[in-house]
Amino acid sequence: MAEETVISPDIKFIRELKETGGETLKKCYQCATCSVVCPISPDDRPFPRKEMVMAQWGMKEEIFSSPDIWTCHNCNDCSKYCPRGARPGDVLGALRQRFIKEAAVPGFMGNLVTEPKMTLVALAIPLLLFLVVLGVTGHLGIPEGRIVYSKLFPIRYIEVIFLSAVGLAGVAYLTSLSRFWNRLTRVNGRGYSKAFVPALVETITEFLKHSKFAKCEANRDRKNGHLLVFYGFVGLFITTLWITFYYYVPKIHSPIPLSDPMKWFGNLSALTLLTGSLIVIANRTKDKGINTRSSSFDWTFVIMVLLVCVTGILTELIRLAGIAALAYPMYLVHLTFVFYIIVYFPYSKLAHMGYRTLAIAYSKMTARDVEA
Ligand code: SF4
Ligand code: SF4
Repeated sequence: MAEETVISPDIKFIRELKETGGETLKKCYQCATCSVVCPISPDDRPFPRKEMVMAQWGMKEEIFSSPDIWTCHNCNDCSKYCPRGARPGDVLGALRQRFIKEAAVPGFMGNLVTEPKMTLVALAIPLLLFLVVLGVTGHLGIPEGRIVYSKLFPIRYIEVIFLSAVGLAGVAYLTSLSRFWNRLTRVNGRGYSKAFVPALVETITEFLKHSKFAKCEANRDRKNGHLLVFYGFVGLFITTLWITFYYYVPKIHSPIPLSDPMKWFGNLSALTLLTGSLIVIANRTKDKGINTRSSSFDWTFVIMVLLVCVTGILTELIRLAGIAALAYPMYLVHLTFVFYIIVYFPYSKLAHMGYRTLAIAYSKMTARDVEA
């Protein structure tokens, strides 16, 4: 006799999902067109139809224990061909957002960053922190003479604030990733094995080349914007290490001349990130005849990336123009956006990097991934 499975729909989860951008999920009548057209879906365990069914039933635990919502690259081929306008690509995006919120450590950070209505509060926290530190240490005010940002905000204060905040965020993120991995392996039945390391290397290689994006049909030009944003971030990370090296080893301090190779590299990385974010925004606003909609969670992150670039470029240009009364406040605003991007990363759209890496590596390890 067939085994009975009792399903208790999680009504709250369904309601939250609809509010998060998955409002079309009830339109799905399970024809499976989406799973057939998805270029990334494996034949033996296809998605996103099963996620649509599970989402309709509020089966949160089952969805969040599967690697498939992270394997999805949001190309929206499925939404293009869905005969019911159920927008499965957007529903999967909403599921990822809900997951990031639920997996947040500590939980209140999930509310703060994944809820776009809290964005101003999230930005006000670092700005107030900077102002309090500057006030307490007697640095609040426009310094006299040549514009040197460390006269306003000494490097040691920046290091203490950012290193401790990023360190805490890193521990929180690793905790969330480890819980996700335990959930994946516990429910799907295969834990860590020797196959993990080669699977991880293959996954990272695919990321570096963005080869899975090339499989998309409806939204193929997403690849270029995403690739530029990714390498822009990598470039700025290398620039930060480079500046730190300058500061502590040959003791070269700011302002560093524009002719220095580090400056060239940093400015090129910032322009790469700016171009990538503008391409992403242009793609999202362009009508491609696909029934899809970007969530406010996605928009918030792209706009933050754009603002970090714009304020960074303005910080440099205003300093070169010698307008101290504008340069120092702009520097503080820029640091606020930098804080948002690098300290809130476990709770923002950036969090997908770790979850997706683990999910795809797990899929490869268990032979359920398609070739890139
Ligand atoms: S989401 Fe659309 S294409 Fe996919 S099963 Fe439902 S109705 Fe069919
Ligand atoms: S958005 Fe693209 S990758 Fe994701 S399920 Fe749809 S077709 Fe597949």
